[in-house]
Amino acid sequence: MKIHEFQAKEILANYNVPIQRGYVVREANNIEHTINKVQSNFDSDAVVVKAQIHAGGRGKGGGVKFCSTSEKAREAANEILGMNLITHQTGEKGKLVNQILITEALDIKKEFYFALMYDRAKNSDVFIVSTEGGVDIEEVAEEKPEKIIKAWVKEGTYPLSDAVNTIINALDLSLYDDVFEIFSNIYECYSKSDCNLLEINPLVLTEDDKVIALDAKVDIDSNALFRQEAIALYHDESEEDPLELKASEYGLNYIKLDGNVGCMVNGAGLAMATMDIVKHHGGEPANFLDVGGAANVDTIKNGFKIILSDPNVKSILINIFGGIVRCDRVANGVIQAVKELNLNVGVVVRLQGTNAKLAKEILDKSDIDLISAETIDEAAKKAVGMVL
Ligand code: GDP
Ligand code: MN
Repeated sequence: MKIHEFQAKEILANYNVPIQRGYVVREANNIEHTINKVQSNFDSDAVVVKAQIHAGGRGKGGGVKFCSTSEKAREAANEILGMNLITHQTGEKGKLVNQILITEALDIKKEFYFALMYDRAKNSDVFIVSTEGGVDIEEVAEEKPEKIIKAWVKEGTYPLSDAVNTIINALDLSLYDDVFEIFSNIYECYSKSDCNLLEINPLVLTEDDKVIALDAKVDIDSNALFRQEAIALYHDESEEDPLELKASEYGLNYIKLDGNVGCMVNGAGLAMATMDIVKHHGGEPANFLDVGGAANVDTIKNGFKIILSDPNVKSILINIFGGIVRCDRVANGVIQAVKELNLNVGVVVRLQGTNAKLAKEILDKSDIDLISAETIDEAAKKAVGMVL
C-alpha cells in the first residue's frame, strides 16, 4: 500500500528521524493561516509547497515550489491545490491534487539518495545510498552505477552497525553527530512498520550540519496491514483506480491494462500465462484478473462485472483450472452469470481439470452464445480472433 509523503514523514518522526516539518492543507481557505503557522512555528520565512499524490517526480512536474515570501507561497499553494499534476510517474492523465503539504524551507548543503528495501537474492534487507541525491536514481544507476552503494543487513551475518557504518562512510557523514542513531532509527522504522520500501530522496545535510529527511516515499506490505492498524488508516482510496478498488471489495485480484481482451483466470500464475498467450497470438490483454481458487457463480459474476466496466473490452477469455473447484460447477456458473448479465461481447471458455469433459458438454449444450475451447492456445486464438 502506497502512502503520502506527509504520512511517511509522520511515521519517520515517530522513530525520532528528523524530517522537514510542515502541515497539510486540504481546503483553500486554510492556506493563509497555515503558511503563517509554518513560518512562526518553524522559524522559517521561506516555505515549500508540495503536492501530495502517490507519485514521484513532483518537483519537475510543477508540484513542488520553493517560495521565498508568504505572498509567493499563497500563490503557489492556490495553484497547486486542486491542480491536475502530470509527472513521469502519473502517466499522461495526471493526478488531481486533493491535498498539499506546506513545509519549512531548509538551506541545503548536500543532497543524498537513501533507500531501504528487501534484497531477495541475498535474503536480507539492504540500504541503498548515493551521494547523487535529489535526482532520478534510475538515471544515476544507468550513467554512474559506481555512485550507488549498497549495504546489507542480516542478523548475525551482516550486523546493522556494519551496514550503518558503511553508508555513513560512503556518504562522507562521519564528521556529524547523531547520524549513526538516525540511520539506525530509520531501519527500526522500516522493519517495525512492515515497509516494502522506504525511500528518502533527498536526505539532506543542511548548512547548519543537520541530517534531515526532505522527502519520503513509503510502500507498506499490504499483507501486514492487519497488525499495522494506525498505518492502515492512511489508505487513500482517491489514489486508486476505481475498478481495482471495486475488485478488491469483491475479493478479486484485478489490475487494469490497456488492451481489449478481458481475462478471467483462477490463480495468479495461470493468469500471467494467459496474458502471455493472448499477446503471443497478437492480442492485448485488457486486464489481469485472478478470481482465486474457489471460482463459484458469485466470483464469476463479479469478475464479469469488473471486466465489463472497462469500455475497451471486446472479448472475454475465461481460463479456469479445476483443481479444488469442479469444472462442471464453473461451467454452470458461467452460464448463469452470462444469462443474468446480458453480455454483449464474445466469451471464450476453457476449462481443464476435474470433470472437464462434463463441463464442455454443459457449455456446448447450453443455449447461450459461448465458445468453448480445450487448450489455452486454442482459447486465446479464438478470443483474439474476435477483436482483430
Ligand atoms: P519529488 O520531486 O516528488 O521527489 O519531490 P521532493 O520532495 O523530493 O522535492 C523536489 C526537490 O525540491 C528536492 O529535490 C529539492 O531540491 C527541492 N526542495 C524541496 N524542499 C526544499 C527546501 O526546503 N529547500 C531547498 N533548497 N530545496 C528544496
Ligand atoms: Mn523526492
